[in-house]
Amino acid sequence: MKFSRSLALLLLFFAVYWSYKSLMPTYESDYDAPDSSFATDRALEHVQNISKAPHGVGFPAHEQVRSYIISELKSMGLETFTQEGYTCGDWGNLSKATNVLARIKGTSEGKALLLLSHYDSSPHSSYGASDAGSGVATILEGVRAFLSNNEAHKNDIIILISDAEELGLNGADLFVNNHPWAKDVGLVLNFEARGSGGPSYMLIETNRGNGNLIKEFTKANPKYPVANTLAYSIYKMLPNDTDLTIFREDGDIEGFNFAFIDDHFDYHTALDTHERLDRNTLAHQGSYFMPLLEYFSNADLGNIKSLDDYIYFNLPFFRLVSYPYEWIWPMFALAALAFVLLLIWGFKKGQLQVTDLLKGFIPLFGSLAINGIVGYFFWKVLTWWYPQFNDMLHGFTYNGHTYIFMFAMLSVGVCLWFYHKYRKTSTANLLVAPIFLWLVICGLVAVYLKGASFFVVPVFAVLAAFMVTINQEKPNPFLLVFLCFPALFIFAPFIKMFPVGLGLKMMVGATVFTTLLFVLLLPFVGLLKNKDRFAYLALFLFLAFGISSHINSSFNEERPKPSSLLYVYDADDDAAFWTTYDKKPIAWNSQFLKESKESPNDESFKTLSSKYLTRFTAVANAPKKEIAVPWVDIDLDTVIGNERILELCITPKRNVNRLDIYTNDVPLNSVKVNDIPLSDYYLKKRKKRLVTHYVSNNDFTELGMSYPKDSVLELVLYEASNDLLTHPDFTVPRRPENSIPMPYVLNDAIMVTKTLRFE
Ligand SMILES: [Zn+2]
Repeated sequence: MKFSRSLALLLLFFAVYWSYKSLMPTYESDYDAPDSSFATDRALEHVQNISKAPHGVGFPAHEQVRSYIISELKSMGLETFTQEGYTCGDWGNLSKATNVLARIKGTSEGKALLLLSHYDSSPHSSYGASDAGSGVATILEGVRAFLSNNEAHKNDIIILISDAEELGLNGADLFVNNHPWAKDVGLVLNFEARGSGGPSYMLIETNRGNGNLIKEFTKANPKYPVANTLAYSIYKMLPNDTDLTIFREDGDIEGFNFAFIDDHFDYHTALDTHERLDRNTLAHQGSYFMPLLEYFSNADLGNIKSLDDYIYFNLPFFRLVSYPYEWIWPMFALAALAFVLLLIWGFKKGQLQVTDLLKGFIPLFGSLAINGIVGYFFWKVLTWWYPQFNDMLHGFTYNGHTYIFMFAMLSVGVCLWFYHKYRKTSTANLLVAPIFLWLVICGLVAVYLKGASFFVVPVFAVLAAFMVTINQEKPNPFLLVFLCFPALFIFAPFIKMFPVGLGLKMMVGATVFTTLLFVLLLPFVGLLKNKDRFAYLALFLFLAFGISSHINSSFNEERPKPSSLLYVYDADDDAAFWTTYDKKPIAWNSQFLKESKESPNDESFKTLSSKYLTRFTAVANAPKKEIAVPWVDIDLDTVIGNERILELCITPKRNVNRLDIYTNDVPLNSVKVNDIPLSDYYLKKRKKRLVTHYVSNNDFTELGMSYPKDSVLELVLYEASNDLLTHPDFTVPRRPENSIPMPYVLNDAIMVTKTLRFE
């Protein structure tokens, strides 16, 4: 008995391992794979060629990467096209995008399949290997393999390697709203990254129901689908748009995103290199690409839209499991009914006692409370202990995975300790409280978070285990472990998914999910005699990995600290400053900030926004340099009726990357930037920022505005270049190896500010 218990326990550990391991393929060197198959190594070569230098819009390598993609498409015998133009999108980010396109004719006249990824990297310092070099490489290698098969296919295949995704989805905007091919598109497959590793999640983008999309996706049958309606619901709640969002919103075109999100700390940084791209992840993208391309190049894409919604989740061996929304309530009712019947039966058999089953709520809520509180305060305590982590704007530290493991262990330890205290109570009695709680959860999600309704599936298995424990004095441990499998396979990956997806501040997701999963394993755990010893083991692992995480909490060359430095020339006051966003500056930028003023209260420093609303943290006087101020031409200034019409042109007089224009609180009736009108919706919801122009080739910015004639308009220009470290007039030393440019914020920049007033 003891032997089979131990063996069953090993099986349980293996199931946890398998729940992660089975999500994605394991990379093996495949350079010599046959021409007709997708080779990760060959894709990797593209990634390497694309990610040699930062290639955001306006950076020198941007054009080189575009030329590389065009020549690779041509070498496959495809005719390539480019589409160039300004767009401004919903974020007020203007840029000139240059899309790369190719089209492979199909045998029929139906809708086309569009393969999508973007080639620009995030300004300023990202090498763009994962984001989205990996996506471009997947398409290049996948299409090459597909074409080498030389098989006829029904649908046209359009390849769109878009531009300026990182600035405001401008390339997608340009294609969907201006390209004649856009109306032909029936379905999009988009390849993206928000980190450099982990499984790639399939996320649907649709204006209606997902029914047909899921059915077709299941038929295409990729080997490693990682997708569930909960992840999708969370994705919809977050403000992370992809190019595909434009296709859905502006073109009513649906599609699938394939995006990996782990190792988030590499995202948009100088660490987004081909060395750090997880090979398994790239293989995973390929494992989606080939079967989907083969299937959807022949499927009827005119028939993809539907009103039905499906619940779906992935499961080892079964791949993608799905069922219609209509089943949500019947499944819940069935589970609840089974629970009630088992309760009645348990009482009749004398296996359940009211006092004992009420006792079962104490370890359940006790461990939930402790683990919940620990998880909730984790990030606060961590950033108090290690204030330098505040400068990791991703909210996920280099040793973040160790923390997740540690706190999962601690949560398990707390659960084991509680249930050891209640070892005298029978497992059948102890199970009542967790099943009751899970049914409550399932009922709540059926109303408020339908996407999570598949939570009920493992509950059925636990109900079966509950039946076994009521019925048998000495149940077979293997049977009980087997009945734990659905819970393990479905929920174990979520323990990691929450903090990985939402940042370590969501550690509470990991600790609570560990607890909720643990109590589903009670039928088997109840068989274990020495739960206290296992609790000590879990605590030991927590401490041991705690030491390891502490050792790995410092910054070094492998784990560089993000840092920032800017030189600001205020042309209005003829004054110059050094400034930073760092909460904990390093020696490299501190040397410029020695005589820094306290946290600046100056309005002009507050307005510069960044994705994470970071503010300058220190400002110090700087020597004045000859920085050329942008040239402003007033082309038109007139009053028609009650409106003042103003047209001006701002021309850079040095190499610049970006121009931000802010206004005072004036009601603007209409605004055009480089002939692109800003939408009324945007003009209404915007705060002080009017527009950001990501400049290429030192292009001018032409601004046309109309506003009430009695208003006084004030424009503040922030013109920035990312060349502080290479500019000949400056002697800023190279950033040390143990630091990288801080992402998301304006960095390594020379900025000029200038105010224009129109009385
Ligand atoms: Zn991207």
